[in-house]
Amino acid sequence: MSKILAIGNYNDAERKALEAQFDCLVLAREDEVAGLPQEVRETVTAVGYKGHHGFGAEQMDLLPTLGLIANYGVGYDAIDTRTASARGIKVTNTPDVLNDDVADLAIALWLMQGRELEQAATWTRAGNWASGGTYGLARKLSGGKVGVVGLGRIGREIADRLAAFKCEVHYHSRSEKETPGWTYHADPVDLAAAVDVLFVALVGGPETEGYVSKEVIAALGSRGVIVNISRGSTVDEAAMLDALEAGELAGAGLDVFVNEPDIDPRFFDLPNVVIQPHVGSATVETRAAMAALQRDNLQAFLTGADLLTPVN
Ligand code: NAP
Repeated sequence: MSKILAIGNYNDAERKALEAQFDCLVLAREDEVAGLPQEVRETVTAVGYKGHHGFGAEQMDLLPTLGLIANYGVGYDAIDTRTASARGIKVTNTPDVLNDDVADLAIALWLMQGRELEQAATWTRAGNWASGGTYGLARKLSGGKVGVVGLGRIGREIADRLAAFKCEVHYHSRSEKETPGWTYHADPVDLAAAVDVLFVALVGGPETEGYVSKEVIAALGSRGVIVNISRGSTVDEAAMLDALEAGELAGAGLDVFVNEPDIDPRFFDLPNVVIQPHVGSATVETRAAMAALQRDNLQAFLTGADLLTPVN
């Protein structure tokens, strides 16, 4: 009998759907795998992973008949795909179904930061408007010069939205793409120098660590704003914090951080930074679609059909 191990913070509906469809055991964390009896571990052929900690050789060693790790999320940087591939273990993710939500959040962070929505709301709630005050002026955003680092699935959705805001769209990817006339920059420093706002939509993982480097941040300059919805690791976070504190960067809108959820407390003292607790895809509709795609990949694996969204 082949068993599925679902690991992570599954909500009630997701858990019920998994248990209705599969012979499924749900664990809250990957480090609980070691506590399972050997005879149970030996029957596990697939893992549904919704964790954020690393899932690598240590966990795979404990599951000798593992054939699939179906990730819940498009970003699978927590999974050691190199080790999985070497062992013939397939990995799947949940692309596309979350593009709209993550792009929407990027735009929301941009608007919130630039139009000072959070500060203006706090100021109003504190009674300042009622007592005769006038809130100060923010910055115009429509029609600005904006750049996307990583014109992939989500990056393109962000760029499409920015175009609707009448912005001059620039981008950097490893190769030039077919676009409706957006300006390509082969070097991310050149991109940063050409724009006022940089939207980061790269994959995470070692290859893109610190991609938005100190040099990129310096090129963006003191009018510049970084919006990051990708992974905290893609930006040199220490350099960004230094630049924000020194006034060498105008602001940031961030959904992702290096040390989540225990993020650097320096962020809390910066009024020009808007932060969110990694909620890019966190809507009822999109999470349901992600969970369904994960289950569809598990089902395909168990029935020997083609995986829907393989990554290795
Ligand atoms: P995607 O379509 O694969 O696009 C990823 C982009 O990263 C592409 O533009 C690609 O560049 C670039 N890239 C990949 N490897 C690179 C490398 N070694 N060096 C430089 N650039 C590289 O992925 P997606 O579906 O848009 O998702 C992007 C990321 O968003 C995910 O991996 C995930 O980490 C993050 N995400 C965050 C949330 C959230 O809740 N905040 C939700 C979903 C996803 P090329 O264009 O040159 O190929």
